[in-house]
Amino acid sequence: MVHEQLWLSAYPEEIPTSIQYDEKPLHEFLKEAAFSYKEKKALHFMGKELSFQDVYEQSKQFANYLQQLGIVKGDRIAIMLPNSPQGVIGYYGSLLAGAVVVQTNPLYKERELVYQLADSGAKVIICLDILYPMVSKVKKDTELEHIIVTGIKDYLPFPKNKIYPFIQKKEYGIVVTPEQSTDTHIWSTMMKKTTSDYKPVNVNPKEDLALLQYTGGTTGFPKGVMLTHYNLVSNTQMCQAWLFKAKQGEETVLGVLPFFHVYGMTTVMNLSIMFGAKMILLPKFNPEDILKVIEKERPTLFPGAPTIYVGILNHPNLEKYDLSSIKACISGSAPLPLDVQQKFEQVTGGKLVEGYGLTETSPVTHANFVWGKRIHGSIGIPWPDTEATILNMETYEQAEIGEIGEVSIKGPQVMKGYWNKPEETENTFKNGWLLTGDLGYMDENGYFYIVDRRKDMIIAGGYNIYPREVEEVLYEHEGVVEAVIAGVPDPYRGETVKAYVVPKSGYELDEAELNKFCRKHLAAYKVPRIYEFREELPKTAVGKILRRQLIDEDKVKSN
Ligand code: AMP
Repeated sequence: MVHEQLWLSAYPEEIPTSIQYDEKPLHEFLKEAAFSYKEKKALHFMGKELSFQDVYEQSKQFANYLQQLGIVKGDRIAIMLPNSPQGVIGYYGSLLAGAVVVQTNPLYKERELVYQLADSGAKVIICLDILYPMVSKVKKDTELEHIIVTGIKDYLPFPKNKIYPFIQKKEYGIVVTPEQSTDTHIWSTMMKKTTSDYKPVNVNPKEDLALLQYTGGTTGFPKGVMLTHYNLVSNTQMCQAWLFKAKQGEETVLGVLPFFHVYGMTTVMNLSIMFGAKMILLPKFNPEDILKVIEKERPTLFPGAPTIYVGILNHPNLEKYDLSSIKACISGSAPLPLDVQQKFEQVTGGKLVEGYGLTETSPVTHANFVWGKRIHGSIGIPWPDTEATILNMETYEQAEIGEIGEVSIKGPQVMKGYWNKPEETENTFKNGWLLTGDLGYMDENGYFYIVDRRKDMIIAGGYNIYPREVEEVLYEHEGVVEAVIAGVPDPYRGETVKAYVVPKSGYELDEAELNKFCRKHLAAYKVPRIYEFREELPKTAVGKILRRQLIDEDKVKSN
């Protein structure tokens, strides 16, 4: 039996193994930061800076506006924005109004958006101006009552705000200028006419939700993970404890990870607010922009994912930039190659270590020590107050040291459950343990290792792709009889999406046609990059397609 918390003896004295987490709402930390840091800069966005006081005041204005629209405690507010001041203000403003945030990927296409909005029952959405035509089109298929529209230009300094619409026109081919109406609201107009005297709402941090974060979990279609204020506060405070050399009020955090994923939301946005740190917001991943901003703004903390670090290291002019401000980086979402870790530490002089987590755990559960012992190939040890074990896949008994089973978690960061899906929630917990869907083992020092995923989710370039969703689109094509999606290894993106397709006899189906069809219905990152046409697909006795067998056949072929 391994349930002995072997990792506790590895903790250095600077990191507590247990923490007294603040039992207060997440937005309380913004209020405290505004009180302590006042005019100190909280956000940096393409040259424009906002102080803690600015962010708090505008969040209160937004909360007030939501309340005027009739939003009450527990209502859901969707945010469909790249990293931007509006994203931070919209998030904290929604929480101040007692609402629940539903982060929505701005790359979503219609059907994905409708699914998430309808499932969450969001009443209000804040969206980027270029997304407005799509959002207003799907409104009738959802419970949306109001659309709040904002543009990147709203927070750009002069003259960038004047030039930006032209850049946008060139890049996206459209300029969207909706008018203020009873159900369409323009961010800049709204902010001008709204005061910050919102009505504070009573929040029970352990019970009340702060977030519905969509993920596939261990099976199929995206589900809303219910995260309470306490889940998010505790995970952020664990992160603070882990980064024990970071100083309150003195750090700058690089925000490349998108905040519409819980990883960026916790380790960049919420952490920066708690740390009184300045966060640098980058609306999209572009290695050149990242290098420039590191040199100029000198961030000290840089949470990321392997593909982000790889993108930077592969930039042709890497050595021209001074990256020496970087002190600490935790890499998550996929295995961190040794080569990447070593090169990145060499060019920055800072530390880069691997961690692990999932949406259902707010998200972080494990990491290697940034300043202390680390083991390459390991996800590290459990964070303070986080219990982890390996459960045998059949018996759900705790496995022996070194035995592979399902990584399972207990802790204050573990979700309340899946939104409106009691059965799925029940299946995800066994004897109080959250089943992660990841297969791994623990060594005799309490370090954990991930070897595979029980679930079928594909992670390509840091994005999650759920095979069923892509398969459903393929099945809608008239020339497709059967289709299955799998993740195949890719040296740059970690995994890439491959489709195995059985075409209708007599139908001249080709890759270009399927690709075009998928592009129409899915965000680009979900569209298969490889197609293989087959006469039939391997199946179990009950007709379930053997996805794993196809992946294994591919592995054999490539060896
Ligand atoms: P998400 O819910 O989007 O945060 O995705 C969580 C999943 O990402 C986990 O269940 C793992 O499958 C994967 N993951 C996260 N960190 C790592 C890591 N360090 N190594 C391997 N897989 C990881």
